[in-house]
Amino acid sequence: MTRIVYLNGDYLPETEARVSIFDRGFVMADAVYEVTSVLDGRLVDFPGHMARLKRSLGELSIRNPLDDDAYLAAHRRLVEENGITDGMIYLQVSRGNGGDRDFVFPPEDTPPTVVMFTWNKPGMADTPVAQTGLRVISLPDIRWHRRDIKTVQLLYPSMAKMQAKAAGKDDAWLVEDGFVTEGTSNNAYIVKNGTIITRALSNDILHGITRAAVLRMADEAQMKIEERNFTIAEAQDADEAFITSASMFVMPVVEIDDAAVGTGKPGRVAARLREIYLEESRKAAI
Ligand code: PMP
Repeated sequence: MTRIVYLNGDYLPETEARVSIFDRGFVMADAVYEVTSVLDGRLVDFPGHMARLKRSLGELSIRNPLDDDAYLAAHRRLVEENGITDGMIYLQVSRGNGGDRDFVFPPEDTPPTVVMFTWNKPGMADTPVAQTGLRVISLPDIRWHRRDIKTVQLLYPSMAKMQAKAAGKDDAWLVEDGFVTEGTSNNAYIVKNGTIITRALSNDILHGITRAAVLRMADEAQMKIEERNFTIAEAQDADEAFITSASMFVMPVVEIDDAAVGTGKPGRVAARLREIYLEESRKAAI
């Protein structure tokens, strides 16, 4: 089945969707994105992704070309057209086609380019990786300082991921001024004596939609949370470690820079949070 994608109001086979070579997203990485999970054919945390999309666009003064209802309708139509039960939807909004390559932004009335496409991942919530956990390496965080904006400038995270793969591991945790910021494409957590520890929100990290939901659920389950910096040494000495993201949900981390975390097996807190998060997300999905 050919994948049907969305481009500026049209639903097209992926091979027919064309964007200008002068699109600012292509030549300047001048675009923001969101990835929303689909479980049981419904969208997980959609309002959260819409809120962050609008914030990212606002921070970069990119006009928001659609309202929330239009984004929702397009997401639902792509789920339908592509027969997605479990999977993800990618949404990207760029500043549009400037007509040439120029550091100066194009005129305000330049239409933004809106692209959406799906990935089909049947049974994605039951991935066996959740039973074994991830192994990560640490790398310096040399990204720009507005990581709170979800831009498509993903070259360094992609290189960091490749470095992790070359080392035979799954992912990298990024470190700045001695403290973990986040994973290449996820937020990072440790657990010590039952307390969940994760870096506080600032421009240093992406404000994960999954992070917000998981911390809210942990709080409701009377778990203790500390939003503060932690080092790789503290993480290696923790009882557990895990990450969160819209596509991985809650995923245990069992090794950091060759040192086993806790028992070297996924921990109970991460497993419980994954269970609660999946259950609540399925219930609240739209
Ligand atoms: N940090 C970074 C750098 C990310 O790319 C992502 C995933 N896009 C996250 C954190 C997790 O955010 P979310 O839970 O909204 O997917």
